[in-house]
Formats: sequence, structure tokens, C-alpha cells
Amino acid sequence: MKLAFIGLGAMGYPIAGHLAQHHETLVWNRTFDKALAHAKEFGSKAVDLSEVAQAEILFTCLPTSLEVDEMARRLSPYLRPGTLWVDHTSGEPELARKTAQTLREKGVSYLDACLSGGVAGAVQAKATVMAGGSPEDFARARPVMEVYAAKIVHVGPLGSGHAVKAINNALLAVNLWVLSEGMAALVKQGVEARLALEVINASSGRSNVSENLFGQRVLSRHFTNTFALGLLAKDLGICAKVLEAAGTPAPMLRQVREFFEVARREVGNTEVDHTAVAQLIERWSGVEIK
Ligand code: NDP
Repeated sequence: MKLAFIGLGAMGYPIAGHLAQHHETLVWNRTFDKALAHAKEFGSKAVDLSEVAQAEILFTCLPTSLEVDEMARRLSPYLRPGTLWVDHTSGEPELARKTAQTLREKGVSYLDACLSGGVAGAVQAKATVMAGGSPEDFARARPVMEVYAAKIVHVGPLGSGHAVKAINNALLAVNLWVLSEGMAALVKQGVEARLALEVINASSGRSNVSENLFGQRVLSRHFTNTFALGLLAKDLGICAKVLEAAGTPAPMLRQVREFFEVARREVGNTEVDHTAVAQLIERWSGVEIK
């Protein structure tokens, strides 16, 4: 099968690498050197946008739905009926439905197929995919996605992949924020961070943040950058829109967005890893979590 991948960032680069090991894979990236490096490393083929549009299944993994919509417009003259567009961007349900409509006019179908599992999941071919769209399009994409994903779920109609992802990442944000607050308080009172975490991870307050992220990035003081603070703040904005559309009460989820907006401004750099919020809470608390 001829595939194409647009957006060789932290997530896209390894995922397109897995695809290239199983299928003929065309790649395009804004910074084209990355596409050339990808071709060299994985045997994909770096091509221009007109050639990308010749693929049977075309993947995107870009920062937001705005870039995806812009890409749909740029590719429009070259798109062929029957192409399936699988969007791995963590995007907005509403804008994705608009992009899908534009594509439909060209005979191209669209799935919003968000990823989770982080860069490690993508590298190890253990990503999770939550997809919104028609059952037929999902069935067509599924065997291809199995190359890099361990869990693939069709969560509902167009837009629902983005919605599930936004709520998931809001849960990540809540856990990261509250664990940072709690750990700062404990360390300030003389508890060793490593021991507090050991206990929490054997108790009911544990989460992926406590079991993995916090030890690997905060206690280690590495703050390894694989998921930018700006991208998580963007996801919280999408979550706010999902909540608005649902009209359900969600004071906690709405609030965590405000916290991250403050953090984004206070940290002053949206490119750093999202665990930078722990450093911010350390600064406010006058203590280092270690
Ligand atoms: P990166 O910032 O690492 O990569 C972004 C990619 O988009 C790059 O290839 C970049 O090109 C390209 N790009 C940016 N702007 C444009 C544009 N205007 N036109 C064309 N290409 C553009 O992001 P990630 O890979 O981390 O994230 C991608 C998506 O996946 C986001 O929606 C994110 O929220 C989501 N995600 C990220 C996870 C993570 O752990 N990192 C986990 C799950 C989902 P260039 O190389 O030229 O900059």
C-alpha cells in the first residue's frame, strides 16, 4: 500500500518510521531536512506535496487543527477521490468536522485519530489511537495503524477522537498539577520525595504521572522534553470547547485550564516539557522536589 506522512515531529517521526518498515511511505515535513533524514534512517521517500497526495492513506501529525486545515487547502489541487486522510493531530472537533467537509468535496474521507502513549509509546510501537469517523474508514485504517499502535479504539463519529483526547489530556494536567502541589508540601515538611512517591504509587492516589512521569522527569531533575507545555495548554483549550459544547458542569476541568494558562505565561517558554509546571510550583513553594 502507498502511504504518506506529513509532520515528522516528536510523534510523527517514529510513527512514520514504523509505517516505512511495512509499506511504501512518502514523507513531507515543513523543515525538509527532517524528511531527508527520515528517508535515510527508515527507507521512506522524501517528496513534495503534490506527490504526497498520490498516497492511498495520508497521515498528518501537526500541532493543531489549524495547520491540518491549512494543509488540506494546500493539498486540495492534488487530492484524488478515494484517499483516506488519517489525522493524528490532537485537534478540535469542530474544526476537524469543517476540514472533513472540505475534503469530502474532493472525495477524500477523514478520521480524527488522536494518539496517546507519548513519544516512548510511538517509538516502541505501543501507541494508543482513539478515532472518530465512519466505521468503514476506521476499518480501512485499522490494519495500517496496527503497525505502531497497541490499542486502537473507534470512539464514535467525526470529532469524537479529538474530544476523548482533550479530556484525557485534561486528566493528565490535573494529575500533574495536584501531584506537584502535594509533593512540594511534603518535601517542605521534611519528607523525602522518593519515599513519598513510593508510598503514593502503592496507594489510591497513584496515576501515570506519579508512576512514570514524576520520577523520570522531576525527581531525576531531567525534565526531558517530549511533550511541550504549549501543546498541553492547547489541549486544555480544546477541552474547554468540548465542555462548552456538552454544557455539563465541570468546575475542576475548567479550572485546570486556567492554571495552565497562568503557568504558560509564568514559565514564559511554551517549548519546554509540560513537567515545567512542577518547577513553577517549586518556585512558588520555595522548595525543590527531590
Ligand atoms: P512537534 O512540535 O514535535 O512537531 C510538530 C510537527 O508539525 C513538525 O513536523 C513541524 O514541522 C510541523 N509543523 C508545525 N507547524 C507547521 C505548519 N504551519 N505547517 C506544516 N507543518 C508544521 O509536535 P509533536 O509531534 O509533539 O505533536 C504533534 C501532535 O501530536 C500535537 O497535536 C500534539 O498535541 C500531539 N501529541 C503529542 C504527544 C507527545 O508526547 N509529544 C503525545 C500525543 C499527541 P517542523 O519540523 O518544520 O517544525
